[in-house]
Amino acid sequence: MVSRKKIIREILEKYKVIWSLRVAGSLLGWDQETYMPPKGVTERSIAGSNLAVLRHQLILKPDFVELVDKASRKRSLNDVERGIVRVLKRAIDQARKIPPEHIAEFSKTTTLALEYWKKAKAEDNYDIFKPYLAKIVELSRKTAEYLGYKKHPLDALLDLYEEGLTTDDVDSMFSRLEPGLKRVYDKIMAEHPVPEKHPLEQARYNIESMKKLNRKTLDILGYPWDRARLDVSAHPFTIGIGINDVRITTRYEGFDFKRSLLGTIHEFGHALYELGVDQRFIATPLAGGVSLGVHESQSRFWENQVGRSKPFVTAFYPHMKRYLVFLRNYTPEDVYLYFNTVRPSLIRTEADEVTYNFHIMLRYRLEKMLIEGSLTVDELPEVWNQEMERLLGVRPRNYSEGVLQDIHWSMGSIGYFPTYSIGTLLSAQIMRRIKQDIPNVEEDISRLRFRRIQKWLRENIHRYGSMYPPKELVRKALGTDLDPEVYVSYLEKKYLSR
Ligand code: MG
Repeated sequence: MVSRKKIIREILEKYKVIWSLRVAGSLLGWDQETYMPPKGVTERSIAGSNLAVLRHQLILKPDFVELVDKASRKRSLNDVERGIVRVLKRAIDQARKIPPEHIAEFSKTTTLALEYWKKAKAEDNYDIFKPYLAKIVELSRKTAEYLGYKKHPLDALLDLYEEGLTTDDVDSMFSRLEPGLKRVYDKIMAEHPVPEKHPLEQARYNIESMKKLNRKTLDILGYPWDRARLDVSAHPFTIGIGINDVRITTRYEGFDFKRSLLGTIHEFGHALYELGVDQRFIATPLAGGVSLGVHESQSRFWENQVGRSKPFVTAFYPHMKRYLVFLRNYTPEDVYLYFNTVRPSLIRTEADEVTYNFHIMLRYRLEKMLIEGSLTVDELPEVWNQEMERLLGVRPRNYSEGVLQDIHWSMGSIGYFPTYSIGTLLSAQIMRRIKQDIPNVEEDISRLRFRRIQKWLRENIHRYGSMYPPKELVRKALGTDLDPEVYVSYLEKKYLSR
């Protein structure tokens, strides 16, 4: 009988080739969003899709599959080995269940859909996008059938982004969140009527100065420049090429500086997760964060729990003022209010901490109905508008403010949105737990010292990479499951006692 250790060693040896293709694909993708000349896109997509096909073939190679199967039958696996087998079995399972023709059709459809979504949005004409959306819903339902599910077809799609997540989980999360959130929101609106726009939202900044401020921010947060980069892209993102090569991007619109600053801090949180994975996991299936929800908990933690907090804004204010001269006319308290203005917005990406999750609820509920076939793409825009009015009391005036605003559906990402809420809710639980474990941690923040917080995150979350499935990791790190009540009381304390 071959020993367990030897099988795992052999798996990891073979996996290095798959991993290398992944590194190449990630680097091509990063380059495409940052430095590639626009006309390179056709050749780049040929290269990208062929790398993906090659990876698919290697994952399904009979000798590799057999090794993973063999390992999974071993009884005495330790946590690391069990993690490796779990991650690979999932990858093999997904690759085996979905036929290559379906993947090709899906990718062809979404490539077109993305172009027509852009056109539809620019012209505010839903009809341009509608047939492609219908096709995407149909193909996604097919994907769910191929993958299999117990209760609801959306379960199969949710699991692609958040391992083990079901519609029951998300329904329960939102039904527990909604009443409390609504209560807090109504109270804030009644007690603190906010101006339509905060003057700082209009203030124009010098892009070179803003770049310096972002770099200074990352310096203060302890971004390791010898293992990480900051660049510019249209839509900010983070990509882990390796544990010691993590790259984030930000954007400069020239006004409303919190978008660039808090966006950078958000991506920093994603990067810190990738950078904090145990160095032993280099070039293994465990390198990298475990799920989108846990990843988003890290970015939201730094963006909201730290970046939008009073101790941070107060301590960080002198740095902001040095690079953004117009801040001389504003106090730290002004900036804090600007960072935390609550108002009903039609656009998800502009939503504040209080209203944000309403936007996700809406999308999730519509996705669920679309996939089960109880809502058609014809009815979609009107139901969207009604639900928006019910949740936030505002109604889109056109398609671009409503059903056409997000890129996700055009890319075929149905089932993705709930991970944003999971991350946001978890980030509050993480901060609560850190405050229990590290007394006077707020003092750290008000001195802009983050070493103890980062150590906590690394020890309890980051170092494990993808070793434990998300629900297990959360229970291990926090001693409890996802709990929407913690988020509601965080909002209550922050917004109703000021
Ligand atoms: Mg994010």
